[in-house]
Amino acid sequence: MYLKSLEINGFKSFAKKGFLEFKTPITSIVGPNGSGKSNVAEAFRFVLGEQSIKSMRGKRGEDLIFNGSNEVPKMSRASVKVVFDNSTRFLDIDFDDVEIQRVVHRDGSNEYHINGTLVRLKDITELLAKANIGSTGHHIISQGEADRILSANPKDRKSMIEDALGLRVYQYKITESEKKQKKTSENIREVELLRKEIAPHLRFLQKQVEKIEKARELRDELKEMYQEYLKRESVYLEYEEKNIGEKKHIPVERLKVLDAELVQATSQLEESVGGDEKSAELLSLERELRDARTEKDTLLRELGRIEGEISSQERGLVRQKEHFADGKPIPFSELQQFSEKIRQQIDTVESTDDMSIIKQVLKMVRDNFSNFVRNFQDAEEDSLVKEIEDEIKELQTKKHTLELSRGSLIEKEISLNGRYDVLQQEIEKEKDSSREAETSVFRIRAERNEVLSVLSQLQYRETVFLKDKDAFSEELKEGGVLIGLEITSFKEYVILGDTGEQITNEILLSEEREKQEERRRKIEKSKIRLEDMGGGSSDEVMKEFQDVTEREAYLLRELEDLKNTEESLSDLISDLIIQLDTEFKAGISKINKEFQNYFSLMFGGGTASLSVVRAVKRRRSDLGGLDEGSVLDMEEEEGEDGIEITVSLPRKKVKSLMILSGGERALTSIALLFAMSQVTPPPFIILDETDAALDEANSRKYGDMIENLSAHSQLILITHNRETMSRAGILYGVTMGSGGISKLLSVELDEAVVVAK
Ligand code: ATP
Repeated sequence: MYLKSLEINGFKSFAKKGFLEFKTPITSIVGPNGSGKSNVAEAFRFVLGEQSIKSMRGKRGEDLIFNGSNEVPKMSRASVKVVFDNSTRFLDIDFDDVEIQRVVHRDGSNEYHINGTLVRLKDITELLAKANIGSTGHHIISQGEADRILSANPKDRKSMIEDALGLRVYQYKITESEKKQKKTSENIREVELLRKEIAPHLRFLQKQVEKIEKARELRDELKEMYQEYLKRESVYLEYEEKNIGEKKHIPVERLKVLDAELVQATSQLEESVGGDEKSAELLSLERELRDARTEKDTLLRELGRIEGEISSQERGLVRQKEHFADGKPIPFSELQQFSEKIRQQIDTVESTDDMSIIKQVLKMVRDNFSNFVRNFQDAEEDSLVKEIEDEIKELQTKKHTLELSRGSLIEKEISLNGRYDVLQQEIEKEKDSSREAETSVFRIRAERNEVLSVLSQLQYRETVFLKDKDAFSEELKEGGVLIGLEITSFKEYVILGDTGEQITNEILLSEEREKQEERRRKIEKSKIRLEDMGGGSSDEVMKEFQDVTEREAYLLRELEDLKNTEESLSDLISDLIIQLDTEFKAGISKINKEFQNYFSLMFGGGTASLSVVRAVKRRRSDLGGLDEGSVLDMEEEEGEDGIEITVSLPRKKVKSLMILSGGERALTSIALLFAMSQVTPPPFIILDETDAALDEANSRKYGDMIENLSAHSQLILITHNRETMSRAGILYGVTMGSGGISKLLSVELDEAVVVAK
């Protein structure tokens, strides 16, 4: 037995707390008309979650609350509690006793509790549905509703039978799964939308990342090139510096000696010159020649500086030109705008056949293209290049002037030297001892000239060396900006030959300088390409790319999961539909067997059965539009399954339910109700005067059937029928005093018969 007790407080006519215990399989509730018996049946409906106030004979929630009488004021709330014995765990909740309570307030609000805990209505409906206490209330038959199943339409009938067969849980699961499926489809659409939204950004970042990776590759290549170049250059410069220093040492020292000797020889000559014209001239020539050489040295140094500057500027020019070889970079937004403009113009062309418009638009397209190209032809480029070119020109003019001066100095030197040689010969011809001083000057001068020539070659080498050294430090600085501190690792760099062996410094130094220059040019080109790529915020881009990629991967996973869920939900729904269908059909055939038994028992023969029908809805469709004479047609539409009842009474030709007598209808529906309850017994059945229309003989049969049923389901019978009362284990009497309040009392059968009147 499942049902333990019912407590009614403030519900309808039960202003005072009423308590019913259900200790026996059959309990009868008896009492005079209007005493409140049906209110007890409704209290059951109420506490089990009934949402139709109408089915509890009210309009609003407050109609369910005691409304007051001349003796007792109206109440603010109605509460009903039902307690189930759950030791068999027929309710899927881990308590031995389960108390369900519902409270309604005057404002129409409701509260639901399970074992004192506030819950949602849904929780109660779910809990009960699983225990075959369905929401259609097939197990609670209200007064005058005995033939409800007969008068219901096929679809509602089907619901009632599904409920009775305990199949509502499938319906419930199907509805829940369909809701989930709908939500999943919405989520799929949302995720797809999100993916669509981030796709262009991801593509853009992808391109940026490719650029960054390319730049990294280029930087690695450049680093490799730099290391070889710098290593070779450092070895070369070190060697040059040492070698020039060594080579200069002897001539420099010798020149010092010669200069001292010359000073001495010239002063001797000066002392002995006296009135000698030739000696005086020699001395003056000597001075002039020294001055000319000093001037030439200064001039050569300046010339060297200018040449260095010219070659540096020329390098800059080449770089500048290569920098702009591909023109000015076009911002993506500008390109997008331009393409949109052209697209619109093409749309215009496509949408017209008018040749003059087409021509006009084509002209506009052409103009747009040339304007666009002109906009990005770099004016900045021209001015920068021009600036450098002007600088070079200026330097070259200076160089030219200096070369002219050098030319005239050389000429002057040649003529001075010529005069000097003539004078030397003349003096030497005289072979005079007084000419000893002059001879010594000539010897010193000749040797000095030789030493100077050697030194001048070395000085040229030194100038080249210094220029190279400057270029080296500049390269190191520039490389450092692009490559970073790693650039200094060139010192440890090992240069390998074609066969993989380490190249010695001798071999390295024996290479022509032109090859190093070639390497430098390659480095220069690589640097320009790298600069053009632009470094900037590569870390940020990489981070963002990683974030967006991860998000995309997450969305993709999410989408896969959602699609899998959608698929499994759809499989689940199909399975549930098949299962429901199979069990429903099996249930129907079982009910049919019982229906037939109960029917022939009640009527002493005849046949009764249920059949599944598919209702075909017809819909008018207007095939011809609204014109006069349009053909209105009927279109068939697939409907839902329903249940039809067919009966055939013994000895009567009556087949339609419509023309059965009241008693016959009651008997038929009782037969069906009992058949349904027999197949899947609900935990309890409440029958409110279902026996009202039965005569004595049928009342007995009814009583027998009730006893049969009570073997599986607890019965609560509201009745005026003595026969029915006699089958009950416990009888409750309901009375109503002058205060309009229902009272409950336990009665014996004989008392009950009296009370019922
Ligand atoms: P019958 O045997 O004729 O079917 P019954 O014993 O089943 O009668 P009910 O229909 O349960 O009687 O009770 C009806 C009574 O309940 C009426 O007297 C009605 O006034 C009373 N009633 C219904 N709703 C309320 C309410 N909100 N407040 C007070 N009394 C109410």
